[in-house]
Amino acid sequence: GFKRWGAGHIGVDDGGFVNVQPLADGRCIRIMDVASEAIAMGLKAPMVIRFQDLLRHRVTQINEAFRKAIKEEKYAGDYRGVFPIKVNQLREVVDEIVAAGKQFNYGIEAGSKPELMLALAMHEGANALIICNGYKDLDYIRLAMLGRKIGKKIIIVVEQLAEVDDIITIAEETGVKPLIGFRAKLQTRGEGKWSSSTGDNAKFGLNTAEILFACEKLKAAKLTQALKLVHFHIGSQVPNILTIKNAVVEAARFYCQLDKMGFPMGYLDVGGGLGIDYDGSRTNFESSMNYSMEEYARDVVANIRDICVESGVKVPDIVSESGRAVVAPHSMLVVEVFERINKKETLGHQHQPKVKHKVVTDLETMLKNKSKLGRLERFHDALQKKEEAFSLFNLGYLDLENRAAAESLYWQICEQIAKEGRDSGYIPEELHGLNKLLADQYVCNFSVFQSLLDHWALKQLFPVTPLHRLKEKPTVNAILADITCDSDGKISSFIDLEDTKDYLTLHELNGKPYYLGVFLTGAYQDIMGDLHNLFGRVNEVHVFLEPDEPNGYYIEEALSGSRIADVIEGVQYQSEELCRRIKTQIDAATRKDIVKPREGVRLLEFYESQMLAKTYLNIDRGNGKKK
Ligand code: PLP
Repeated sequence: GFKRWGAGHIGVDDGGFVNVQPLADGRCIRIMDVASEAIAMGLKAPMVIRFQDLLRHRVTQINEAFRKAIKEEKYAGDYRGVFPIKVNQLREVVDEIVAAGKQFNYGIEAGSKPELMLALAMHEGANALIICNGYKDLDYIRLAMLGRKIGKKIIIVVEQLAEVDDIITIAEETGVKPLIGFRAKLQTRGEGKWSSSTGDNAKFGLNTAEILFACEKLKAAKLTQALKLVHFHIGSQVPNILTIKNAVVEAARFYCQLDKMGFPMGYLDVGGGLGIDYDGSRTNFESSMNYSMEEYARDVVANIRDICVESGVKVPDIVSESGRAVVAPHSMLVVEVFERINKKETLGHQHQPKVKHKVVTDLETMLKNKSKLGRLERFHDALQKKEEAFSLFNLGYLDLENRAAAESLYWQICEQIAKEGRDSGYIPEELHGLNKLLADQYVCNFSVFQSLLDHWALKQLFPVTPLHRLKEKPTVNAILADITCDSDGKISSFIDLEDTKDYLTLHELNGKPYYLGVFLTGAYQDIMGDLHNLFGRVNEVHVFLEPDEPNGYYIEEALSGSRIADVIEGVQYQSEELCRRIKTQIDAATRKDIVKPREGVRLLEFYESQMLAKTYLNIDRGNGKKK
């Protein structure tokens, strides 16, 4: 599926390694080469790799898609895109976007005071916009006015009616004429996981009556000239282009009505929502989209034009706030698998019972005489015997060896039944979950809560693949478990062209390091991640193509992940104070002669050195084992 979800950027080379083509121009970077170089620099997995050229490429792509649509549709306005900084606030990401967007007058969208502080400082170019969304206090509005004062095109989007009064107050206080937008609460319903961003119960935006009120307030304050923009946002990752068309039409009607009421409108802001095809199915599944970026741009442009022409209103400049579509593809997570949890083989044949209980011999007979009964009947029989074994154990009639043998035989029978299902292509409904039940767990050195929060919170799917060994046939069905002490800490649904999949088919572990890549993680995941179990930020490398080498690259920046001292300081401890406390306890143990003085010194040194260690497991690269 690389070709489908990779959008021309991800492929496999002759050696069976996954590579990235940041510019989709044939120049490839082998991901394992980058990972190995980072490891040699002391930055082990888990690590995020950012392909900075790919980020630049996406900024160019969206701007050119709109330029092309404007030209083809003979649209008389411009495109003035903005990057919603909340989708990824990392300085290097924003730097790259601002630099790449300069030639297109590409601006920034902020949704909070801290984001506006960043936007004000990072934004460049007199014609690029800053759009101010989100809940606002007076200082937020003062900051926006500061931007206006120093010549920036900064538009305050009214999300709540009360904000109009606040803007009027601060305009009087500062003597600055603001630029104002209204966020309209559209009736067009979004679709997908984020569909509650619009409609009657949406958290943001003005309903029709509130828009009329807001207009009166502006007129009364002699700020008619300030209203410039209509904004809407129907939620992120909109899978269906029809939803977007409908929303654009509704918002364009609002725009034209306000224009006709005498406000000097100029911009229509279509918000975010442009999707990413995470599963490559090109459908209106939640993790996909049934349209391309080009089709999106054309539909936005053409629908606005049609409504404006019909209403006799001059077309606006078009603003879009696409975040996910711009940043998701540029980064990926590399994780190392270090252990396999296998239900069927853990016991092996090493602990055979000395005297086999009848329940065990019955299960053995079932395993051997498979052809006599149908799959479903064998499954029911095996299930009954397993339950019987557990009851016997609880009543004290089954020893550990016999219980272990019964469990092992049960899983072997299930595996036999599942294999027959896979071979025949027909699986009775009751057995649909069997493959999932049988899947092993590959334990990976990372935290879902830190690195893939949306998978845990919203079951968002990301493509996951081995980064090497792709010339070998994978044979093990597995789900991925993380190292948090939380049963939810796992990846157990995967992309599939038809539906989602409950497991991934991976390679047998062979004692050597085995790496998986989780792709398209550049949007939201970096900032949403949390410190569950105090697993902190992961290592990170920023990669650029080497200009004059066909497949060359260089690591421009390497950011070391959180150390234990960093995360514990984040929850109000001082590492020095903790070390002092441990020293006191070791000294006391030494005084009581529980610990020899020399050993005490060593223990303290070890404790202190761990403060500077990373929060993830320290896996010995030689043999793939934990240290
Ligand atoms: N604009 C607003 C107001 C948003 O709330 C969001 C995110 O939900 C975005 C833009 C970015 O959306 P997306 O990442 O889907 O482009």
